[in-house]
Amino acid sequence: MTNQSAIARNYCRVSDVERIHRHLIHLVSAAGGSISGIYYCPHLPDEGCDCRKPRTGMVESAREELNLPDGGYIIGDADSDMELGRRAGLKTILVLTGRGKDQIRKIELEDFTRPWKIAEDISSAVEMILLFDKTSNP
Ligand SMILES: [Zn+2]
Repeated sequence: MTNQSAIARNYCRVSDVERIHRHLIHLVSAAGGSISGIYYCPHLPDEGCDCRKPRTGMVESAREELNLPDGGYIIGDADSDMELGRRAGLKTILVLTGRGKDQIRKIELEDFTRPWKIAEDISSAVEMILLFDKTSNP
């Protein structure tokens, strides 16, 4: 789930974003994984849509379209991901890649949504989830 206001700003087209998503799906699939869905918000921050993170519209769409149960996890590198997780009832993992390293400095600030866990990267985050699921559902 990503905010892609570059579309509304005309920095790129929907077709560009969707081409990148197809490429990502191909890469993950070639590595033996799978992606059930990619959701993005093409709107500007001040448009008031319900899909721009940290609003929960994309999670609600995914839950409905992919028939997902309540709960689950969100891995992200930004406060908006952590706040989306809090609002949508997801366990949140902040990764220290991408913007994460800068975001972690803000964790002590009042306005940063404290993550459930912090991981070095997405692989570590996935290991945390697998371990947590294993120990909580043996
Ligand atoms: Zn939106």
